[in-house]
Amino acid sequence: MARIPIDLSKGKLKEAEKTTDNIIIGIDLGTTNSLVAYLKDGKPNVITDSDGQNTLVPSIIHFEQDNSVIVGTDAIEKLISDPSNTIFSIKRLMAKSFQDVEDFKNFFSYKIIDNDVEDSLVKIRVRDKFYTPVELSAKILEQLKKRIEKSLDVVVSKAVITVPAYFNDAQRQATRDAGKLAGLEVLRIVNEPTAASLAYGIGLDADDVKTVAVYDLGGGTFDISILNIEHGIFEVLATNGDTFLGGDDFDRAIQQYWVSEYGFNLDNNVALSQQLRLAAEAAKKSFSVNTSFETRINDQLCKIDRSTFEKLVKPLVERTIIACGNAIKDAEISIDSIDEVIMVGGSTRMSIVQDFVSDFFQKELNNDLNPDEVVALGAAVQADVLAGNNKDILLLDVTPLSLGIETIGGLMDTIIARNTKVPIKAGREYTTSVDGQKNLKVAVFQGERDLVSDNRKLGEFVLRGIPPMAAGIPKIEIHFLLNADGILNVRAKELRSGVEQTVEMRSPYGISEEEMGRMLLESVQNAKGDIAVRALIEARTEAQTVINASHKFVKQNASILSPEEIDRTILLVQKLEDATSKEDKDIIQACMEDLNEYTTPLAHRALDANISDAMKGKKL
Ligand code: AMP
Repeated sequence: MARIPIDLSKGKLKEAEKTTDNIIIGIDLGTTNSLVAYLKDGKPNVITDSDGQNTLVPSIIHFEQDNSVIVGTDAIEKLISDPSNTIFSIKRLMAKSFQDVEDFKNFFSYKIIDNDVEDSLVKIRVRDKFYTPVELSAKILEQLKKRIEKSLDVVVSKAVITVPAYFNDAQRQATRDAGKLAGLEVLRIVNEPTAASLAYGIGLDADDVKTVAVYDLGGGTFDISILNIEHGIFEVLATNGDTFLGGDDFDRAIQQYWVSEYGFNLDNNVALSQQLRLAAEAAKKSFSVNTSFETRINDQLCKIDRSTFEKLVKPLVERTIIACGNAIKDAEISIDSIDEVIMVGGSTRMSIVQDFVSDFFQKELNNDLNPDEVVALGAAVQADVLAGNNKDILLLDVTPLSLGIETIGGLMDTIIARNTKVPIKAGREYTTSVDGQKNLKVAVFQGERDLVSDNRKLGEFVLRGIPPMAAGIPKIEIHFLLNADGILNVRAKELRSGVEQTVEMRSPYGISEEEMGRMLLESVQNAKGDIAVRALIEARTEAQTVINASHKFVKQNASILSPEEIDRTILLVQKLEDATSKEDKDIIQACMEDLNEYTTPLAHRALDANISDAMKGKKL
């Protein structure tokens, strides 16, 4: 199975033809900051802004009144001046449903939409537009793409993007989609700890056999990963961490200390709180070199010394060490079998952190590289390997095009992503869309486009004999097994009844390199249009579910609802029905939100009434 070299620039028109360089870039798409790097003369470089100063692009997106977008440093001050139209931490929302994020929804200052459809993915409302986390991440990626294109004066179309080791398939696919939307062919999604190891050259030697701990303490999140590296294969043995523990908590500890020492009153005083936070961060950073810090805030001299700081933050550092212990336990290894400890993230500059980590692992740390840049540097190293410039590294066989099935509206749902190592097993659960559905057609496709009609069909079969159940109740697992010879086995199984069928598809590789090149090229060229069509179809499908549920709700609860409430609900349903015939997903979303906002209190009332009825019938 060969790696297929595709020269995307060849397919582009005149303007791009001036660029002969065909480089692959490495991107660290971070929660707080993102970076782009590439390998020049054998050395990875992170690209700076046009002043040559900053390598970090803050992962912040601000929408102006006219919906134009500002990404990065210029968007920072908008977090305070216009928080509801300024998006941060979008990575936390990738491939998440509202139920997934409900517990920490107050963390966000912008509006996250709950359409009340189970498992539907979150959307973010900015004024009258609705965005998915994929679209918002794409804005950050576009900014990085622009930055490197300007710096190198070439058109860039291929990238490696890093993700946390704990990201699931859906989150990885969402990251790929974001890349595609930004006009990038994502050659590989790489785990952040793998990239960090590569930046230190660990695992680059084909003979390397090592166990590595990667300790990553950033601004808002903490991860520890244990990797096993054997002959160019990086295996994640365990991950642990805390998605709400990072440098911000250290700043908060100093801020709280000053508030209690000097009696600041922060009630309704956002400006003062902000000033204190910034001063606290400056104090924290100063302790990398100094032992004491002072600054004046509102005529009050605020002081703190390093030993007080360390006492305050010790519990935070200890929490990270407990997570390291848990990761080692989960990896079923002993501490002394760890060969290397790699430090990632700006907060690992703190000496208290370094002391605790090296004490725990009983090792010298790998911390010579800039901890903010390590992951991006490693992504660039991986990109170079993929470009075939590093002949020593074993390139694993990969599937050259994505494999998936057709879902509602003729959409392609990828089960095995392009460039995944083979052999590979992957599966996903689906359900029926109609009450009492007995048969389910499984149509398998290969390709990168969002509509199956633009992809290549490998075959189809029908899973028969599903016992009649209400729509959404059957659990149908579609499982793909792609072996090293390129044979694809597809199994469909209804998990509640055990009904199943397995079919072998002809080799997905019976396709010429030319054809494959054309398919890939078309997928990047049509990405924007494809994703818009997908978004529209998904909004319509979701709207249909909401419409059906609303009709059912009104019918079942007519006795509890007032005639006005019934009329209003039916009117809103009608409006939503009308919206689905339009070509604008934002109108559909807005109608869905209106309906949902109106019916949520009614649904709660109906639930209470039903529970109390049920209780009446029971002897307690
Ligand atoms: P990251 O998300 O990896 O960019 O990490 C950013 C975090 O690193 C922020 O909380 C910064 O305050 C923190 N940071 C950067 N430099 C230092 C430093 N010298 N000492 C302590 N924390 C730092």
